[in-house]
Amino acid sequence: METTVILLKPDCVGRRLVGEVIRRFEAAGFTIKGAKMMAMTRELLREHYAHLVAEPFYPLLEAFMMSSPVIALAVGGDGVIERARTLVGPTDSRKAAAGTIRGDLGTDNRRNILHASDSPEAAAKELSRFFHSGELFGD
Ligand code: UDP
Ligand code: MG
Repeated sequence: METTVILLKPDCVGRRLVGEVIRRFEAAGFTIKGAKMMAMTRELLREHYAHLVAEPFYPLLEAFMMSSPVIALAVGGDGVIERARTLVGPTDSRKAAAGTIRGDLGTDNRRNILHASDSPEAAAKELSRFFHSGELFGD
């Protein structure tokens, strides 16, 4: 059983899509193992999006991610890391297929509803970045 990290971004929270997105993960057979609302800091974002800090769009991404609190979820299930990425769809919501979360609910390549860990290595790092061990439940 794997665990992945999902962040429900400010557009998801602001548009009241939190329940709908969690519903989709549960309907796919995954289990919530941790959940917390948190305000992103500049420092945390620079670590989480280290691969993007030098991009020209980074200031806009940072402002977006700090525009309201996010909700961090630890989501467990067989093959959940890769399967969640499939459920989420590609980065640009405008190019994401209908039936994916971003395709159905996202706006563009920044306002795309949620983050999902992209590999087992990333999931492990992000679990320790966003959760203390006592905040994870279920195994
Ligand atoms: N992003 C953006 N502009 C871009 C590309 C990405 O604002 O041109 C944002 C978007 O919110 C995306 C996040 O940066 O989800 C992280 O980018 P990454 O390439 O890791 O995409 P993801 O793994 O979220 O699909
Ligand atoms: Mg990514």
